[in-house]
Amino acid sequence: MSTTRQPVLHREGIGKLSIRDLPLNGHRIFMRVDFNVPLAEEGGVLDDTRIRETLPTIEYALRHGARLILASHLGRPKGKINPRMSLRPVAERLRMLLDTQLGRGENVGFATDCVGIQAEEMAGKLEKGQTLLLENLRFHPEEEANDEKFSRQLAHLADFYVNDAFGTAHRAHASTVGITKFLQKSAAGLLMEKELEYLGKAMQHPEHPFVAILGGAKVSDKIGVIRNLMNKVDALLIGGGMAYTFLKAQGQQVGKSLVEADKLDLARQILQDAKSKGVKFLLPVDHVVAQKIDPTALARTVTEIPADQMALDIGPQTVELFSAEVARARTIVWNGPMGVFEVEPFSHGTKRLAHTVAENSGATSIVGGGDTVSAVHAAGVADRITHISTGGGASLEFMEGKKLPGVEALTDAP
Ligand code: AMP
Repeated sequence: MSTTRQPVLHREGIGKLSIRDLPLNGHRIFMRVDFNVPLAEEGGVLDDTRIRETLPTIEYALRHGARLILASHLGRPKGKINPRMSLRPVAERLRMLLDTQLGRGENVGFATDCVGIQAEEMAGKLEKGQTLLLENLRFHPEEEANDEKFSRQLAHLADFYVNDAFGTAHRAHASTVGITKFLQKSAAGLLMEKELEYLGKAMQHPEHPFVAILGGAKVSDKIGVIRNLMNKVDALLIGGGMAYTFLKAQGQQVGKSLVEADKLDLARQILQDAKSKGVKFLLPVDHVVAQKIDPTALARTVTEIPADQMALDIGPQTVELFSAEVARARTIVWNGPMGVFEVEPFSHGTKRLAHTVAENSGATSIVGGGDTVSAVHAAGVADRITHISTGGGASLEFMEGKKLPGVEALTDAP
């Protein structure tokens, strides 16, 4: 759940139109949302977090008299109709949620194809305050191909466009980019806006000390982020599997820990870069090791990794070291777990760090990436994080300093 601990963010604007700038009343609004939720085998939504996260934008549109058309992808049907990836159960859940919130559940329709005659007729008949959810966009290969004709067909359903799906903003698809060429105005939804404001402020005008915590499996996934953050942060704290490529590059014994051999030179360069820029680059000083990734494995804490063991979590001294930086930070961004947190004996470093981040109530804390978000929930501290990003890949690309095509495509603010 995207939570906001500090109610008011210094508004700097995102440079793009917001849904609040659109004339919604009586107009047909095509809203791209992220309803890519897990479904149960027997049907039904397993976790409706993503639906609830975009509800404020949906409610805002409905309250302002929009005729609302919602579109999303679900899973990876690869351009083919796949009933197991149908959005129909999502329509059911949306009905329930809108009923509780607005007493408007009965006003949610479902079109069995996102384009074509039925969708057009249903969109045409929508009345003010009514909603139509379209079937999975990715049942058509043209969606991911950003096909022009398909984009035009989607655009044909509405007058204005709103994108509230931050999680797909790094993809140039028909429903995130192509469609915007054929509609009068394209604006960010409230969730999208919130994401861009928090991440934008952290990247452009962070309060210092600015501390970034990076973890997860591979250095190769995070090189761009490390490089970009290096010019902005006061300290980089590196944990998780990626730490061991750096430790090996420094000449340390890492046993059987995860190492990307082809990234050792790069790791040396990055370490050198941090030194010359005066950025603190902290690596684990102790480790939880085991012979295998298994809940029953014998896990021990060591400062030197034995040759036959893998380092699978940061140890308590590292937690202390990292926590000291986190405690004095004014801005914290965190992406990637500190260990194999899914497996209990290796979950403690990540959880303890999550508590330290949550305890620093004076800092703006931003957590992104599916695993890190799960870890923060598992630690029970999600409500004390300033902003939990809904987009793993998108937030990483944003932190790399890349422009997100789905954001670029929105109409510039006047
Ligand atoms: P990422 O998707 O890159 O954020 O990586 C997340 C994955 O990294 C999780 O599945 C973790 O289990 C894994 N991971 C974290 N620390 C380690 C480690 N020390 N060794 C192996 N895998 C790890």
